Amino acid sequence: MRGDRFVNSLNDGRSVWFEGKQLEHIHEHPAFKGTLGTIRNLFNTLDDPLLRDKVGFKVEGREHYAHSSFLVPYTQEQLAKRNQSFSYWSSETHGMMSRLSDYARSLITGWYAARHELKALDPDFEQRITAYYEHARDNDLFLTTAIIDPQIDRSSGLDDRRIAERFLHVTRETEDGLVVRGAKMIATGAPYTHDFIISSFLKFDAKDTLHAHVLIVPANSQGLHIVCRESFADQREHNHPLGAKYDEMDAVLFFDDVLIPWERVLLYGDAQKVLALRANQTANSLAFHQNVVRYVAKLEFVTGVAFAVAESIGVTGFLHIQEKLGELITQMDVIKALIIASETQAKPDASGVLVPELSYIDTARSIGTKFYPRAIEILQQVGAGGFMQTPSDMEDFYGPISKLMHLYFEGASVSAEKKVQLFKLAWDLIGSPLGSRHELYERFYAGDPVRAFANQYIGYDKNRLIDPIWELLKQTSKGGAIRS
Ligand SMILES: Cc1cc2nc3c(=O)[nH]c(=O)nc-3n(C[C@H](O)[C@H](O)[C@H](O)COP(=O)(O)OP(=O)(O)OC[C@H]3O[C@@H](n4cnc5c(N)ncnc54)[C@H](O)[C@@H]3O)c2cc1C
Repeated sequence: MRGDRFVNSLNDGRSVWFEGKQLEHIHEHPAFKGTLGTIRNLFNTLDDPLLRDKVGFKVEGREHYAHSSFLVPYTQEQLAKRNQSFSYWSSETHGMMSRLSDYARSLITGWYAARHELKALDPDFEQRITAYYEHARDNDLFLTTAIIDPQIDRSSGLDDRRIAERFLHVTRETEDGLVVRGAKMIATGAPYTHDFIISSFLKFDAKDTLHAHVLIVPANSQGLHIVCRESFADQREHNHPLGAKYDEMDAVLFFDDVLIPWERVLLYGDAQKVLALRANQTANSLAFHQNVVRYVAKLEFVTGVAFAVAESIGVTGFLHIQEKLGELITQMDVIKALIIASETQAKPDASGVLVPELSYIDTARSIGTKFYPRAIEILQQVGAGGFMQTPSDMEDFYGPISKLMHLYFEGASVSAEKKVQLFKLAWDLIGSPLGSRHELYERFYAGDPVRAFANQYIGYDKNRLIDPIWELLKQTSKGGAIRS
């Protein structure tokens, strides 16, 4: 089964740092074990005759089923197939696993799909992206991205040597490839990934050639260190049902003179070209489409938990609770409607690839940064002090105070044990370290939300809305004209 192959493949000499130690194997480590089990099960869906058509597609001319994030959509059916596979994996993980590699794979698929157009950026681009796309697709590679430069001093740029030395840059060109040094933040799923897609989120100047690149870096590259944050995994599944299997882990990457073979250098040396690749609409639409499909699963999950909590304590009859639960429904519907709009208004790009309408996806990603924190706030308001009316462990239900536990923790419509289980699940969303990380994630995963909203304004065809205003005022002003 490819789930086991995936887990075993991580035993490849990568350098993973956790709690001051360089881990030799992550398989059995409590910080990673539960999540690896989750990914293993998802990978196995591609070997399951009942599921593989839901999550994958048969590669032309081969027996191999690849995940549908590698499917280049030319028709509405193929676009729907991509949606279905994102939807299935994310529902299976309640939207809590955001980087199951289907996002990063979609970027690669998009660049591959637009390769004829993108070869103008570099004569080797087409051949390199084709070879990599086929390799990643046929070997079920797990991918993630790291495109943010380390947060040192955001008021300084590359003219400051302190910054230029720490941001990832090329130190040498060799016959075999580029040697790079510096750091990247944040790579979600880093300990589980095979390859990192590395670039910069920032717009560099033309002179900053050494910092301008798009690279695909194997996780086991010599000199690459994966520095993990504190673990939010918790093996006590009955206390932390989400923490037990969904801590994706985030890491900072240190590149200590890492050789990137030429075939993994997609672009190098030209900041404008790097920006053009990063802004490529085909790749961004396909990848961001995954983001918002996954997001629906998460909103549905939080809404389901809020409904259950409200029912369990008998507060569904109060008007303000109904209003707040109704707001959660509108959140889900807004994102679902934006996905439908993006798909039904999908248009072929220059190569005939059917590309979801990006403006709706951008809107879903931007508004989503506000929805999730609000959903968590609503959940807190619904459950109130009940989140603290829980024992430290379910064991109390089976010990000497068992009878009292059943008496005093009882809910309006559910048994004491079920109510406590439900509130522990809800706490894992709103109060645990994992829950807090998820709120931060939804605020920032798509980049800085402030600049994302601002970019929507900057890129918008404003005259379409402004011209009719002046037209109206012209008609209503004295003498039929407004002096400028
Ligand atoms: C849980 C989590 C997981 C993540 N996973 C990934 C991942 O897998 N891959 C990846 O590439 N990235 C990932 N990220 C990083 C994410 O993309 C960034 O957090 C996001 O782009 C914001 O950048 P920053 O964190 O460097 O914030 P900063 O850019 O440092 O911003 C800090 C504050 O200053 C403000 N600010 C900074 N500069 C400006 C400016 N020029 N103009 C206006 N305001 C400014 C911002 O609005 C913000 O309020 C992850 C982040 C989180 C929190």
